[in-house]
Amino acid sequence: MSLRELKIKTSSLKRVIKDEQYYLKDAADQEKHIEKLRADGADEYVIKKQIEVLDETRNMLPSCKDRIARAVQDLKALVDSNNPAFDGTEELASAKDALASITYDSKLASKTKSKRTSVGDLSRTSSGGYDQSPLFLLPSLATTSLLKGRLQPLVKLPECVDKDEWLASSIFEFFEYINLFYGAISNFCNPKDCPTMSAGSHDYTWSDAHRRHVKLPAPQYIDYVMTWIQNCLDDESVFPTKAGNAFPKDFDHTIRTICRQLVRVFAHIFYTHYDKLVHLNAERHFNSLFAHFYAFCREFDLLDKKDTAPLQELIALLETNNVF
Ligand SMILES: [Zn+2]
Repeated sequence: MSLRELKIKTSSLKRVIKDEQYYLKDAADQEKHIEKLRADGADEYVIKKQIEVLDETRNMLPSCKDRIARAVQDLKALVDSNNPAFDGTEELASAKDALASITYDSKLASKTKSKRTSVGDLSRTSSGGYDQSPLFLLPSLATTSLLKGRLQPLVKLPECVDKDEWLASSIFEFFEYINLFYGAISNFCNPKDCPTMSAGSHDYTWSDAHRRHVKLPAPQYIDYVMTWIQNCLDDESVFPTKAGNAFPKDFDHTIRTICRQLVRVFAHIFYTHYDKLVHLNAERHFNSLFAHFYAFCREFDLLDKKDTAPLQELIALLETNNVF
């Protein structure tokens, strides 16, 4: 069992904890929203619809609890294995912190009433389309980022590190972060508002078991993609984590396929849900993540031009600003 495996399990636990916290906060905000509607004497039909939204959020909580329980069990087994390779490492400390946070957070979450009101008040009706120029290409937003300077030194292969190992750990991190962002806006990504996996006027299709190209609602498409990538990351024969297990011959192909799918998720969020990220003050983080991801793909030549076509304008803007 390698340190990376410990890191992966710790991140999985943190991710499901964050998911639960997100739903708890969202439910608390929605409760307030409903209280306010009642106080303002809103129409019963409007209130009923908002209660349905609240119920949808609450329905997510039992599955969060199950996922947390499974993630705790997995991580605890690793921590309790007393593997000497883990002794005194940051990864072990971080794993223990994550396990310790469970009791603390769940108590806190049940008592805390969120002060945040923005999410509950965000538009649940439209998916924030783009009439002429999409929001993310507004000059004031497009180049806003947490990162300063060029990104190439950040993504190039460090000395004495195996290339496949570097690709694997980088992809793992990108996947985790994209998952977090998608989790934050996933309430707004539903089959009604996102009937296809779109990026502006471009629709991506999914290749089914018979290699037919089918159009899927964006949430279903993204669920397929994220589940597929998670399964790859968890599969020892695809992403080996144990010492002595070699990377498979087609590893490069797998990485390219993952990147091609992740860039589609980026594109869908940029075109359809960027307004939600702006409401959450998360646009700089998201822009930074995309710039980092793109710089990485460019360094290792992992994307074709057609993969990034819907984001070409944004990439050109970043290039003008010497980001890469
Ligand atoms: Zn969507």
